[in-house]
Amino acid sequence: MKLILLGAPGAGKGTVAKMLTAMDGSVQISTGDILRGAVKDGSELGKKAEAFMKAGDLVPDDLIMGIMEERLQQDDCKSGFLLDGFPRTIPQANELKELLTRINVELDFAVELDVPRDVILDRLTTRRTCVGCGAIYNVKSMPPKVEGVCDKCGADVVQRDDETEAAISNRLDVYNEKTAPLVDFYSKEDMLLSITATSSDVVVAAIKEKLEA
Ligand code: ADP
Ligand code: ZN
Repeated sequence: MKLILLGAPGAGKGTVAKMLTAMDGSVQISTGDILRGAVKDGSELGKKAEAFMKAGDLVPDDLIMGIMEERLQQDDCKSGFLLDGFPRTIPQANELKELLTRINVELDFAVELDVPRDVILDRLTTRRTCVGCGAIYNVKSMPPKVEGVCDKCGADVVQRDDETEAAISNRLDVYNEKTAPLVDFYSKEDMLLSITATSSDVVVAAIKEKLEA
């Protein structure tokens, strides 16, 4: 499958992507994970991206397009991909469309995960992330077996730098201003599946049904 996952921070894009990769070997491509990896490694890309990310602002489009142009042409994308956190602006969506035409790849559709704001806020403040493999935990509903240690890879499980209250509130504002218009964009392209659900199982089932239709 070749899908775009749209939704506010905390809507469950990452969790749904991980469940979908298990179905058919498609790869999850998370621009957030790629950028966090670059910051951790101290690469040029990481140095350019770090301050934007910490404040909860978007990283400039040209940096993101550079990453994605390279990433989408790697071999593992041939069996399918789930774009998690990209595109995030109308210019990124336009450039993605142009890029996919150029490399001769066709998307199935874009999925909008529509989750109420109070659920989102609660999830983001209680969310914890593995610095090693990116696995997502929740201190209330899904803590790791040993506090602060990833069940899957043993690396530290931490609260992200951009999950302070101020940064979360900014990320939600940025989402509404810059990313929410993509729902309309993909609806006009006749490529949108919109799902109102708080359970990842329900979301995955709806995606599966549309893929099989
Ligand atoms: P979220 O949980 O907010 O969806 P991500 O892990 O997808 O978080 O992204 C974390 C941060 O990385 C964003 O706040 C932003 O600074 C940067 N980022 C990720 N993807 C993009 C993108 N497509 N365009 C611009 N910035 C991005
Ligand atoms: Zn891990």
